[in-house]
Amino acid sequence: MERSRVTAAVRSGIDSDTGVSSVVPPIYLSTNYRFGGLRQPGEFDYSRSGNPTRSLLAGALAELDGAAGAVVTASGMGACTATLLALVPAGGTVLAPHDAYGGTWRLLDALARRGHFALELADLTTPDAPGHVAEVSPDLLWIETPSNPLLAISDVRALAGAAHAGEAVVVVDNTFCSPVVQRPLELGADVVVQSSTKYLNGHSDVIGGVVTASEQAIVDQLGWWANCLGVTGGAFDAYLTLRGVRTLSVRMRQHLANAEALVDAVAGHPAVARLFYPGLPDHPGHALAARQMDGFGAIVSLELVGGEPAVAAFLTGLADFSLAESLGGVESLVCHPSTMTHAAMPPDVQAAAGLTPGLIRFSVGIEDPADLVADVRAGLDRALAAGR
Ligand code: PLP
Repeated sequence: MERSRVTAAVRSGIDSDTGVSSVVPPIYLSTNYRFGGLRQPGEFDYSRSGNPTRSLLAGALAELDGAAGAVVTASGMGACTATLLALVPAGGTVLAPHDAYGGTWRLLDALARRGHFALELADLTTPDAPGHVAEVSPDLLWIETPSNPLLAISDVRALAGAAHAGEAVVVVDNTFCSPVVQRPLELGADVVVQSSTKYLNGHSDVIGGVVTASEQAIVDQLGWWANCLGVTGGAFDAYLTLRGVRTLSVRMRQHLANAEALVDAVAGHPAVARLFYPGLPDHPGHALAARQMDGFGAIVSLELVGGEPAVAAFLTGLADFSLAESLGGVESLVCHPSTMTHAAMPPDVQAAAGLTPGLIRFSVGIEDPADLVADVRAGLDRALAAGR
């Protein structure tokens, strides 16, 4: 019987040590590796190009994604940079969502301004998006689903089908899901990018990234560029991230359950103008999310009735949510996208992406859900009182 991916992730590298038979694999911090003799390099020579600890993590992440291989980078943005520089030909066209993560938008915009490629932004969540993809016929299609921070859902299978008719490379940023919730290669994507800073590591103590691909030739190209650019991940980060990956599936289970509890508790509160969560039956992408995801993720966004003053009242006094950037750690976080994660986007771009001053985004952690619900409900009551 084929071993499950969960087992593979838990046991990655376990019992592999040949030195002293440690159960957990050792960390290799050495920057360099001895040659056997002239013209006789071993499997590793220099840690930017290859490192045993990073290789173990790459193997585990490739297995979780069902990929031919993985390239581990020093950050999610390192993964995005290597992907774009490796896979878009000079003068090519990139089609990306108009509401991608702010840092991704900044990178795409900056590279396009330098003339690396032409950039087209579009809403990839609409029913006519696959038709638009076919029309633009990009060299690279970038998909982020659910989107950040409004959790709109794009149809990966339909978009990939349209893009492949024109021979585009299809990249999905799967940071919001992790492979436990969504596996884009199974939906027809060629490449998956993730910030491992988030769910994969899961403990908010490592900045990292990973790119996986369905074909070894693409993995090789990505690996060459990551080494060339110097964005490969460090050994210590890889060690910690591998430790995080071992508990990914149990953490995700609790993240998802807590997010559902939170949504149930805040739906209908008079301080909430709009609630964004693909698990809600009236979310426009609900049926699609139910088809292409395993669960609905643990990011929840909502718009407060009173705009930014209501946000200030909501935040003042929260006990179990830290006001901070990032997501996907065991601890719950709240952020104000327009002044934090998406501050790199000018106001007109924010407005086009649907970001409003009253919007807040939760990364729901794995604490006791009763505490999270009580904390958020008290915050909503404060927001309501501030608007009166
Ligand atoms: N992609 C998404 C969807 C993100 O949310 C982030 C970071 O927030 C990144 C990429 C970039 O990752 P990193 O911060 O690890 O560079």
